Amino acid sequence: MTIDITKVNSARINERVDFLGIITGIQQPQTKLKTGVFVCKSCLKVHELPQNIFENGYRQPIACHECGGKKFELMTDRSTFTEIQFIEVGKPDSVKHVKVCFIDSEEIVDEDVLGKQKHIFGKVVLIENKNKFETVVVCQMWR
Ligand SMILES: [Zn+2]
Repeated sequence: MTIDITKVNSARINERVDFLGIITGIQQPQTKLKTGVFVCKSCLKVHELPQNIFENGYRQPIACHECGGKKFELMTDRSTFTEIQFIEVGKPDSVKHVKVCFIDSEEIVDEDVLGKQKHIFGKVVLIENKNKFETVVVCQMWR
């Protein structure tokens, strides 16, 4: 069932929604660390640490399980990365905007779609970045 964009909010976290909206803003795609593989600089023990892809930067292990060391190096060749891109979707004559996120999408959203109406199908999620929460829709399909 298609809902009005003004009804897309934190009350629907983890729900699937679909709504119509006008594309009002497009951010550049970003490459984010998904699982970091870190090597301890003192004992060379390797640590894997899943990341929050919505956060700025990435997290290192707090301390090495083996030697207690606190210096690590990210092994980019063994880590996994993902592409994310945010767009803003709105409604004429309304201040309501919804942030929509594409994760590992085949297509990169470019400026051609600015001002166009799209029907968005996705899931409402709560994201955290530096202790701030935000409600976004992870887009699964749009047309
Ligand atoms: Zn160590």
